[in-house]
Amino acid sequence: MSNRAYNFNAGPAALPLEVLEQAQQQFVDFNGAGMSIMEMSHRSKPYEQVNDQAQALMRKLYGIPDDYEVMFLQGGASTQFAMLPMNLLVPDRPAAYVLTGSWAQKAVKEAQLLGETVLAGSSEADKFNRIPKGAEINVPANAAYLHVTSNETIEGTQYMDYPEVPADVPLIADMSSDIMSRPVDISKFGVIYAGAQKNLGPSGVTIVIMRRDLLERCPKQVPTMLRYDTHAKNGSLYNTPPSFSVYMVQLVLQWIEARGGVEAIARINRDKTKLIYDAIDGSGGFYRGFASPESRSQMNITFRMQDEALEKQFIAESEAQGFVGLKGHRSVGGLRASTYNAVPHESCSALAAFMLDFQRRHG
Ligand code: PMP
Repeated sequence: MSNRAYNFNAGPAALPLEVLEQAQQQFVDFNGAGMSIMEMSHRSKPYEQVNDQAQALMRKLYGIPDDYEVMFLQGGASTQFAMLPMNLLVPDRPAAYVLTGSWAQKAVKEAQLLGETVLAGSSEADKFNRIPKGAEINVPANAAYLHVTSNETIEGTQYMDYPEVPADVPLIADMSSDIMSRPVDISKFGVIYAGAQKNLGPSGVTIVIMRRDLLERCPKQVPTMLRYDTHAKNGSLYNTPPSFSVYMVQLVLQWIEARGGVEAIARINRDKTKLIYDAIDGSGGFYRGFASPESRSQMNITFRMQDEALEKQFIAESEAQGFVGLKGHRSVGGLRASTYNAVPHESCSALAAFMLDFQRRHG
């Protein structure tokens, strides 16, 4: 299909065309069942297979060790901001957060409602244009956990190395905008969570990867649906799951596998973003990258131009040429290109060419 837009949306975001076509083929009649996957019981064999395969593929492709649970929940990453402290806070042990931008701020705000928090580090003084590192991050030895936002979707910054944590302090990462975009050593984490709608599928399902021993921390009074142990014990089928979204995640995981797995995806992603970062760096200041180079995200490329009028012109002209989603988040302005796993190389080279051409005409 040649009428696909150059889709740089921040989320929900581009899905692989092959996946959409496969879903279309199976849409009305799922593998001869005489109905779509959405019309089936979540207790049926075909759906159970989808659920199991999605979990198994994620384990295999992401190298998730056996002592971790993989759960498919609802409520988005925003619900995880509250569910994590509800389940993992321990009396007299503060929850530690690294403040790196808009999403980290939202995460800490929820934890503050529920218990004591400390800031283990912050880049607020630099307008969140970088990720604090090394000695800038101090985690109390008695912290209940350390929470980091692996990729700040709005500011366009990303951890290159995750902070070291004291023994007995689990590291928790919000990977909503970079899950499975590069290999990570899962055993370093207590919990990884992410909404699916950027790198793994449509909205509606939230992935939680959790070290099993942490399931035991949950206080008795936490309601059933908000407890990780409920979902872990029931294989993510305690109640009606977002079945179509989980099915789509399964297809996207198969697509990742067919492309050579997460390492191959990471290489492809680096090649894609290089095209755009090179266009920024080679522009002699016409385009100005927001993130400091050592913290630049491979998922969300943020940049500004000399004034807002020119940025508006850029958006208008890009839209006329088939580019979608290049406007920066309303809270920070400027421009942003989100280059998640499913954004084709071709979209990125087209954007780099457009940027060059726009500069030639307006520079
Ligand atoms: N964390 C990050 C890093 C995000 O980018 C987002 C969504 N843009 C969220 C959390 C919130 O996710 P949701 O909309 O699924 O609640």
